[in-house]
Formats: sequence, C-alpha cells, structure tokens
Amino acid sequence: MPQVVIVGAGFGGIAAAIELRRHGLADVAILDKAPDLGGTWLHNTYPGAACDVPSHFYSYSFAQRRDWERLCPTQPDILHYLHEVAREQGVDRLVETGTHVTACRWDDAARRWTLSTSRGERTADAVILATGQLHQPAAPRLRGTFEGHAFHSAGWDHDYDLRGRRVAVIGTGASAVQFLPAVAEEAAHVTVFQRTGNWFLPRRNRPYPRPYRKLIERVPAVQRARRRFWFWFLECLTYVIRHPRTAGRVVGAWSAWYMRHQLRDHPELRERIWPDYTFGCKRILFSSYYLPTLARPDVELVTERIERLAPTGVVTADGRLHEVDCLIYGTGFRTTEFMFPMEVTGAGGRSLREAWRDGAHAHLGIGIPGFPSLYVLYGPNTNTSGGSIITYLEAQAGYVRQAIELERALGAALAVKPEVEAASDRAVQARFEGTAWTACNSWYRDDSGRIVTNWPGYMREYIAETRRVDPADFEPVDPR
Ligand code: NAP
Repeated sequence: MPQVVIVGAGFGGIAAAIELRRHGLADVAILDKAPDLGGTWLHNTYPGAACDVPSHFYSYSFAQRRDWERLCPTQPDILHYLHEVAREQGVDRLVETGTHVTACRWDDAARRWTLSTSRGERTADAVILATGQLHQPAAPRLRGTFEGHAFHSAGWDHDYDLRGRRVAVIGTGASAVQFLPAVAEEAAHVTVFQRTGNWFLPRRNRPYPRPYRKLIERVPAVQRARRRFWFWFLECLTYVIRHPRTAGRVVGAWSAWYMRHQLRDHPELRERIWPDYTFGCKRILFSSYYLPTLARPDVELVTERIERLAPTGVVTADGRLHEVDCLIYGTGFRTTEFMFPMEVTGAGGRSLREAWRDGAHAHLGIGIPGFPSLYVLYGPNTNTSGGSIITYLEAQAGYVRQAIELERALGAALAVKPEVEAASDRAVQARFEGTAWTACNSWYRDDSGRIVTNWPGYMREYIAETRRVDPADFEPVDPR
C-alpha cells in the first residue's frame, strides 16, 4: 500500500484524500500549517466573504446539498460544508494541523519522498501538493512606515473595532469589493485606493424566499436541473472571455450599462472607476453593492498613485497625505508562486525553482518531468475565470489517484515525460491567443508576462483531458 502525503487541507487536499480512500488507497495523511482544515476559506474571514460561484458548483459533485440559503454561499457556509463533508467521508481525522511543510526531497536510492516539516521529518511514496494559488497574501512594498493599525484581507483582525475609525483600503479586487460595503457601514470614513478599475455585473445574493427553499429541498430534480443550468452558464462565461470581439462585446456592453446605471448620479466618479482594459481580461466582479458604496459621502475614491506610507497615513503622488487610523490591504495573493517558498527537489537533486525558472508549467497542471510520484493540485494553468475550481480539483483528484494506481501496478515511481509536458504546455499557451486574458496585465501572469495560473478553455475540456491517465505519458525516472 503506497503511503501518500497530501500537503494542504483545503478543498483540493480533502478531495484527493476522499478519492484515494474510496479506491482503497487508505494510507493517507494531510498536513496543513493552519490550526484547522479549510484552506483559503479558513483564512479569509473578512466581512462579506463569499463565493461568486453558485453553491451547486462550489461544492463537490458527490456531496450535493439542497439546503443552501442563497445562490452563492458565504464563507461560514462554505467552511461548515467542507468540515461536514470531511467528517462524513472520514478524512477529517487524517488532517495533521499545525504542520508546516518546508521542503520535499526525492531520495533517488530509497525511491521515496522525505518531507521536512515544523514537526520533524516524514517520508512518503507519493506526495500531493494541494497548497493552491490563493494562500500567500501579497502586500505591496511601499516606502515609509505607517504607525496605525494594518492588516491584510486574508488575515482580518476581528478584534479591531472599525467603528468611528478613518480607514484606508488599498486594492479594489474581488476581496475588497466584498468587504468595502461592510467596512463603510462601520467606519467614520473610508479612503479607497484604486490602481485599476474593474468590470462589474450584478450580484445581490439575497437569501432564497422560503417557498423556493422548500421546493429545492423537497424536489431533488429541481436542484439537479439547476446544477445543469449553472454548468452551462459558467461555460458561457468562459466563452465570453474566449471571444472578446463578439460575445465579450455583448456582455461587456451589459456590464457598462449596469455600471452607468449604478452611478447614474455620479458622472465624475464613474469616469474614475472605468476600466481601461478589455472586458473579461481581469476577473469580472459580481457586486450590486460596491459601486453605490463608493458614492457614499463618507467614502472617497483615490486614483492617484500611492507614493509612500507616512506614520499617520498614505501619501499619494500629488503630495497629499490621506490621514487614517487603519490600513486594510486588499492586495491579493502571490498567485504565481504556487507552493514556494517550499523547497522541492526531484530526481538527481533537480530543484523545482530551477525547473520553473522561466515560469511554472506542468502537464495538466499536475505532473512535472523529473519529479516522480509528485502531483500538484490547482497547479499551473488550472485556475478558472468562468467555471468552478471545485470541478477542476475533483478532476485532478481522479487523475492523481489513477496515476498512483498505475505506479502501484508497475511497481515503479513515475513522472510525466518531458516531451509530453512540453507539448501540453505549448498547446495550453497557444489556446490563450485571441482571448480576453491576453489583453491586459493581471495576477494570471508571472513577471515575464506568461499566463501561468489560468486554464484557457472550458471545464468540460479539462474534465475530458484528465478523465484517463495514459500510461504512455509517464516514464520511470532515471536520477542521472
Ligand atoms: P486581487 O484580485 O489580486 O486584487 C488585488 C487588488 O489590489 C487589485 O485591485 C490590485 O490592483 C491592487 N493592488 C495590488 N498591488 C497594489 C499596489 N502595489 N498598489 C495599489 N494597488 C495594488 O486580490 P483579491 O481581491 O484578494 O482576489 C484574489 C482572487 O481571489 C480573486 O481573483 C478570486 O479568484 C478570489 N476571490 C474570489 C472571491 C469571490 O468569489 N467573490 C472573493 C475574493 C477573492 P490592480 O488591479 O491594478 O493589480
């Protein structure tokens, strides 16, 4: 029985553990540095935290629920759901919390992995890195020191009372758009620092009316039909991003109409929030509350570049000091670093950092040549702007389980062939051509400009490509 260690107890790690155990691969441990399972949904507890993907897809296909209160689940609902599924499937007890993995080294002689963790060394026949793309908060390197209170949206300080405070929010991405309306309700004044405007579509996400909830709960076919509907809705969103000159124009015009409508009495503000890039290039933001919040008299939008921090606030390029008591970073994550700074060393002492010197790439985002029995979940080019990441993670879990079974059947440690990985990487990169993703700079790109986080196609294509492991794609690894 192969011993499998999974790093990361978020949706990916939990999906992998369930998949392995269902197929009789029972020797599984899940290591996570956090005090509990949940991954990004454990850490991101900011007010208003929720998902944009309907619950039918922001949940595992094998653990559907009919008691969601609203279309897009909130952070507490999602975390509760993940705990519940992990418990039901018996994988919650496999999670070893407070265990920070700092290095994974392949031992050529023993043909096994050694993991260095904050709780000592571990060995494993196979390692699944399920650390995700959204786990390392990014804070801008700004000159100067702010002497007030500061925190990142991924580490919300719930003990800090915002009531009566002057608050600065840096960043206007998906997180800030969700927490700003709640912060504005509490704070005395909010200054929002925007670097780039966004495209918006409506999202109220009110609780379902009671009769509708009852219908969903009592008639299973209703939920099944809704799940099918939302699958195709999400695929259409990807179509829109893939076709910026046709479908993108149409939906972009809807977004523009909606934004104009929301700020119909604020033409000057409208001008300053207007995005200067193709619709769909960055993440489309779904909120019916954010733009009206910007129009509040106690909220100021600043589009001037941030020059530096001062002890009492933020100084912009026009020399103005914006005095605040508290600074909230809504500046996102170091998405292109994947599992780094973890040190990963493959066959023959090959470093992953070196292998990914020119940008991260992996076969289907999962397999890396020269790194036997190592699998990545939510790896390079598997993020989605239109679909649900849970769908991708389930597909990956199935693929990894098959690969581990293949290794077991052959009695060999396998890695994907370099030529297979190179060909699939070329195909992925080529598929970005002509899409909205290529039309601006975003967190999907690394420093060289290569899009390394996103899958360029549809959910159904990824599902099809990962359905069966092709033994011909793999080879035993020669350490020389
Ligand atoms: P994000 O989308 O990367 O947004 C970061 C924001 O900070 C952007 O507005 C960015 O401006 C700004 N920023 C970064 N560095 C800056 C600097 N040095 N000076 C000024 N502004 C700076 O991060 P996020 O909002 O945390 O969201 C990350 C991802 O998490 C999302 O794309 C999504 O996939 C996921 N998420 C999803 C939901 C949801 O389902 N609703 C909610 C939250 C998060 P630029 O645009 O100019 O770079």
